[in-house]
Amino acid sequence: GSLPGEETVRALVTEAHADSLGVHEGLVATYIPQLAEADPDACAVSVVSVAGRSVEVGDIGERFSIQSVSKPFVLALACDALGADRTRDRLGANATGMPFNSVMAVELNEQRTMNPMVNAGAIAATSLLVEVGGDGDAAWRLVQAGLSRFAGRDLAVDDEVYACESRTNLRNHGIAHLLHSYGSVHGDPDVATDVYTRQCSLSVDTHDLAVMAATLADGGVNPITRERVVRESTCAKVLAVMATAGLYEHSGDWLWDIGLPGKSGVSGAIVTVSPGKGGLATWSPRLDEAGNSVRGQMITRRLSIELGLNVFASR
Ligand code: GLU
Repeated sequence: GSLPGEETVRALVTEAHADSLGVHEGLVATYIPQLAEADPDACAVSVVSVAGRSVEVGDIGERFSIQSVSKPFVLALACDALGADRTRDRLGANATGMPFNSVMAVELNEQRTMNPMVNAGAIAATSLLVEVGGDGDAAWRLVQAGLSRFAGRDLAVDDEVYACESRTNLRNHGIAHLLHSYGSVHGDPDVATDVYTRQCSLSVDTHDLAVMAATLADGGVNPITRERVVRESTCAKVLAVMATAGLYEHSGDWLWDIGLPGKSGVSGAIVTVSPGKGGLATWSPRLDEAGNSVRGQMITRRLSIELGLNVFASR
């Protein structure tokens, strides 16, 4: 099947967005000032179909740092470069059930990283691109160029976010050093952490994220530019990992409610992929206790039902 017609999608998205605006629960992330400054009541929704049609509602032009929503796209680049099976052997594919920045997740098994949707596995995924590129600068060029192809435009780093996170990301450096002690990060752990921090600081808007999600939905072809970004086989693997651990400790609840692979980030964005149909992105900065956007979850839950997207539904 495909998405309902554009007017139907527009009407449903408009209503889901409008109904969420009365909800003021949740707190904006404050660990760096740039996140704390976000308008807590901003809200944007974008749906991009695999045919390249877009429906956008709300604060669609607002930009924010991509944060953890970068993780599945960097994983896709690693899978494409190294092969999906080798990448899984290096990074793991099981849910940790632990917070995104857990050090304990590194201690859970011999592999040392459980899953590239949490920081330990994500920093290790970025280090695979250091291995592929040869050094940190080359890895960064691969990340920036690759995520830009997913978005269909040149993405740039928010320098303030990058500078600020570089001063405060001691925990991520610690995770990378712990991984290094087990031989689970390629090269210098501080280089991998630096590239990871830059990737989290890329500035995007909600439409960019919907195009990126739609590229995964479209088997790796960006539905706007028609460029092939990653292999088709890569996409199914990335979606599987998103389904296991895309929404922090609430990943099981998300899959129960919404039935689609998704990935959230601390700036309030959520991307959701409907394989073969399209990508959905929401942005609203108030987060629940697990770090997931409150309105984003509400809107996505409703649209999954109304647009008939749940992958576990028989029709
Ligand atoms: N830059 C953040 C970190 O790794 C990303 C947090 C997130 O979005 O979960 O600490």
